[in-house]
Amino acid sequence: MKKKFSVLIILFTLLIACNVNVADLRPHGSQTGVPELTRNNYLMGFLNEYRSSYDVSYYDINIDFNIEEKSIDGFVTIKARALNDIDTLQVDLAKNLNIKKITHQNSSVEYSREEDAVMVIFNQTIDKDTLFDFTVHYYGIPQSADNPPWAGGFTWSKDKNDRDWVAVSCEGEGARIWWPNKDHITEEPDSVRMAFTVPSNLVSVGNGQLRGVLEKEDDKTTYEWFVNNPINNYNISVQIGHYVAVQDTFIKRDKTHYMNHYVLDYNEEVAENYFPQSKEVIRFYEKYFGDYQWWDDGYKLIEVPYLGMEHQSAVTYGNGFSIYNGVRSSSWAMYGVIDPLIIHETGHEWFGNSVTAVDPTHIWIHEGLQVYSEALYFEDKFKNYAVSVDYLKSIKSRIQNKIPIVGPEDENYWALNGDTYMKGAWVMHTLRSVINDDPVWFEILKEFMIENAKSHVSTEDFFDKVKEKTGIDYSYFSEQYFYSPNQPKLEYYQTDSQFYYKWNNINDNFIMPIDLLINGVEKRVLPNKTFQSFDIKKHSTIEVMDWKFYIEKELVNYE
Ligand SMILES: [Zn+2]
Repeated sequence: MKKKFSVLIILFTLLIACNVNVADLRPHGSQTGVPELTRNNYLMGFLNEYRSSYDVSYYDINIDFNIEEKSIDGFVTIKARALNDIDTLQVDLAKNLNIKKITHQNSSVEYSREEDAVMVIFNQTIDKDTLFDFTVHYYGIPQSADNPPWAGGFTWSKDKNDRDWVAVSCEGEGARIWWPNKDHITEEPDSVRMAFTVPSNLVSVGNGQLRGVLEKEDDKTTYEWFVNNPINNYNISVQIGHYVAVQDTFIKRDKTHYMNHYVLDYNEEVAENYFPQSKEVIRFYEKYFGDYQWWDDGYKLIEVPYLGMEHQSAVTYGNGFSIYNGVRSSSWAMYGVIDPLIIHETGHEWFGNSVTAVDPTHIWIHEGLQVYSEALYFEDKFKNYAVSVDYLKSIKSRIQNKIPIVGPEDENYWALNGDTYMKGAWVMHTLRSVINDDPVWFEILKEFMIENAKSHVSTEDFFDKVKEKTGIDYSYFSEQYFYSPNQPKLEYYQTDSQFYYKWNNINDNFIMPIDLLINGVEKRVLPNKTFQSFDIKKHSTIEVMDWKFYIEKELVNYE
């Protein structure tokens, strides 16, 4: 059963339902191609004592949007627990935004600013283990997005009827570009209230559930949204436009969950027919990676004027309602069975939103696993391993092998520009082939996701899980594929009686096996850095199975 409601009816229904010294710059290290460490990235990336001394439990975000001026005016109350005695702490807000005042217990407190860090200096010590809150009042013109969602910020756009349409995306930039918070990937509040005030002819959509709509003076309306789960700061979002709600349901084990999508009014009908595919996507991810974690916040797709983003429980969508002709669909055809944006961004509810990287340098856990899971989607859909290989082959040429997938930690290094996506996926595919035991491989993936739901993990955590399930230490593999940019190369040749093979372009400890097809029969060999050989019959046909492993192969001249 599926029903359409006008915005007002759905809103009504939902109302009922529910100058302090921080350490000096450190030398960067030898990672080629990784940006130099700036002062701001040091301040944002490292959990210094002024950040690790408190744990945020709640953000109360109140923002009034002036769309004509592309400006915001608001205040955010931050509730936290003191993990040490605190005189001073660091909160983060983009330096181009102005602070009016910061208050604690109804009095103003001192603060100083350096880059995006704001050092709040309390009038008295906050004792360890106490709960406390403070409020930052601020205003300004937030950063606009150059190329959302990759180069993020606000997109101040018009819909096709020339009406205002606004959205924000800020994964790499950080939520501090529009509201003050402790902007580190490990800091997730337990819940968030968002009160977005917009001109009354517009609707503002945030994450989670709509709790109230309040008409204000000056022809303005406040929409109050609430997220009742831990959430990454960059996932908190606002969308403003002529939205209508499209309601759908997701039924699981006799339980009905509600999905309240938001689209521009003129797309209501197409969305009603198009968005149900998200349910098939959710069922796939639940089958392989465990339960969707946010049903109490719902699940919705929100139409936006950019491609899309994985905002938790509020996935944004801008691929034109087309499997074939969307912006992304033309390059990612997806075999005509699914919208590439819906499958990708929805999958991030598992990879990224639930299981989050402990440092943005490990962000292949979000993106590499995500792209890999798309290959598995097609394998599952068509009940055919070859389709997953075909999908992976279609993205292989985009791998560059210039910098390691994982770079430096503590530097606010969002490793989103290198081989995080495509090579990350290929590395997972390769590991499956090396382990060579599909039931174990699928258990590794599912257990890793379930055991780490709503928490933070590193590359090492993933390989700890692999070791637990296989009994094998794959650090040689991790070091080669995640911490080195080099693609292993298998050099080989054959004579009438022998097949010769060896690895090149590898770390000294690299001991990965490789599969060959010899006259149609599989054989696993363990190459090293010097040529080894085995007996073959004259005129044997030998194929290196490089569709199963991320390697280069080269027939060498052996003279
Ligand atoms: Zn992604």
